[in-house]
Amino acid sequence: MPVEQLKTIQNLINGQMLDSVSGQYIDNYEPATGQRYALTPDSNEQDLQLAVEAAKNAFPEWANTSAEHKAKILHRLADLIEINQDDLARAEAIDNGKPVSLAKNVDIYRAAANIRFFANACTQFSSESHAMENVAINYTLRDPLGVVACISPWNLPLYLFTWKIAPALATGNTVIAKPSEVTPMTAYLFSDLCVEAGLPAGVLNVLHGNGVNIGSALVKHPEIMAVSFTGGSSTGTAIKQATAVQHKKLSLELGGKNPTLVFADCDFERTVREVALSAFANQGQICLCGSRVYIERSIYDRFTQALVKQVEQLKIGDPLQIDTQFGALVSKPHMDKVLSYIELAKQEGGRILTGGKSIKMTGRCREGYFVQPTIVAGLNNQCRTNQEEIFGPVCTVQPFDNDDEGLAMANDSEYGLAASIWSQDINRCHRLSKQLNTGIVWVNCWLLRDLRTPFGGMKASGSGREGGLEALRFFSEPKNVCIQFNH
Ligand code: NAD
Repeated sequence: MPVEQLKTIQNLINGQMLDSVSGQYIDNYEPATGQRYALTPDSNEQDLQLAVEAAKNAFPEWANTSAEHKAKILHRLADLIEINQDDLARAEAIDNGKPVSLAKNVDIYRAAANIRFFANACTQFSSESHAMENVAINYTLRDPLGVVACISPWNLPLYLFTWKIAPALATGNTVIAKPSEVTPMTAYLFSDLCVEAGLPAGVLNVLHGNGVNIGSALVKHPEIMAVSFTGGSSTGTAIKQATAVQHKKLSLELGGKNPTLVFADCDFERTVREVALSAFANQGQICLCGSRVYIERSIYDRFTQALVKQVEQLKIGDPLQIDTQFGALVSKPHMDKVLSYIELAKQEGGRILTGGKSIKMTGRCREGYFVQPTIVAGLNNQCRTNQEEIFGPVCTVQPFDNDDEGLAMANDSEYGLAASIWSQDINRCHRLSKQLNTGIVWVNCWLLRDLRTPFGGMKASGSGREGGLEALRFFSEPKNVCIQFNH
């Protein structure tokens, strides 16, 4: 597309939509067509300084705004997301390659829900009090931190962007948010809605640009009091190292390599459907996707065949068609990474049960980044395919003989984000839930979310939790006040 026809994305700084100071841009591609269609500001330290000044100036008033008033503005913002849901869903599908129906029913629906949830939560948030009988009373003050950074990835762009921004704003902080440079479009459209909703200037600032440049400058900036980050584990490590000497408060939601444990007594048909969904929703690009499927040996052959059949029925196509169930991968480099892992799986002795190749589409999508949903069998648990995060439409299947072996295989990972268990034996489900080394366990379900629950992982999957009170606590500083009784 000629430059003059490309959509130009802008930053939101101090309530205004602005071009980057340098006038430098990053090309933005539509994954389904492989065509460049927009330009993203490549922000630098000058843009960052403007955003920091705006957020600092806006902080005292926002921090002292009543919870009711903050909630009113946030509800208005959620209303605007709902009013514009079709446009936002289409924009997300174009920018990310995900099916438009998924974008509407999951991403955009959840973006509005996130904001509504924290709008309500801030009016209900209370702090603790600890009485020392006949001696003293302690009470906890919870104040906002100041200017905070929220950094999000490309897989669930507006969904995860709002998941961080909403609690940060609800607790009275002012925010500099950086969406992924790979999928900047809905954060840009959302910026406009923030202005329309009446969010005061400087309360939320949205800076676009490359992670290694602006992302890294943002986390290190001395005025940034806390960083809420979702993305890859190696980026999480880089942020930890970069901010260590400043002792910044960090919430790190990182990668996953999630086990799915299928037992012989599961509800067979339903489990096949749900396990296929958990492995391949959003083309396998959800941190919670179950990419290591362990199946009890007595049903291994039957379950694997049924899973392959289920996956082969997925309707792969143009993300903008309403009946498409499986779209494009997010970028050419990511597609190449996923295909290289499929090659690795073969070299490691894996058998491809279905998929294994890129897809040559016709028409509008002929140059898009499509890869077949792929199931691999015959690998050992320790090989790289089973240990490294692929973050694409690839899952492996392995048999196990008993609960202990299944559990040991599931826990044999440096990651610890989520797991799912499929069994009708409630005692086994309780026992394994307790023993799995993951921050989230789903039993006979997957991705069922209650926004009040703690969300996040252990080990290389991160530290800290999001959701409900955990998020409100992260974005506030507790201070204990102890008053002795005067006898
Ligand atoms: P990424 O780490 O490459 O980028 C995430 C964000 O960080 C982007 O906005 C990027 O610009 C920015 N960034 C990159 N380098 C930075 C740096 N040095 N300093 C500051 N910011 C920097 O991740 P990605 O490829 O966008 O996303 C995929 C990863 O995210 C996967 O590993 C996936 O598992 C993970 N993820 C985790 C969760 C979760 O809740 N645990 C949810 C979604 C995705």
